Amino acid sequence: MLAHELAHAEYFLDSPERLAQVEAAQGAIEAFRSGNRRAIKPVYQNVRRRLREPLAVLAATEAHAESVEAIVLRELTKERQSQTAMLRASAGGDARERR
Ligand SMILES: [Zn+2]
Repeated sequence: MLAHELAHAEYFLDSPERLAQVEAAQGAIEAFRSGNRRAIKPVYQNVRRRLREPLAVLAATEAHAESVEAIVLRELTKERQSQTAMLRASAGGDARERR
């Protein structure tokens, strides 16, 4: 949803530090993903500890975007409901209603 993506953009524009943090987090996760998991396994606990912070950073940006998305969705639903109510009210005296 557009609101979700805009929330991400706004979140990063708000703070260049945040953007650098998220880029570093994505880099760390990408390095982990592209690595050979079988080779990583013996040090898995260590990798997991190293990824805990980057994952928390990404989770925070998602939580923020999702909360903004939820607010926008709620507003859109409210707007649609009031439009429907207005249409119904004005259609009450409509000639099409009398048959
Ligand atoms: Zn997102």
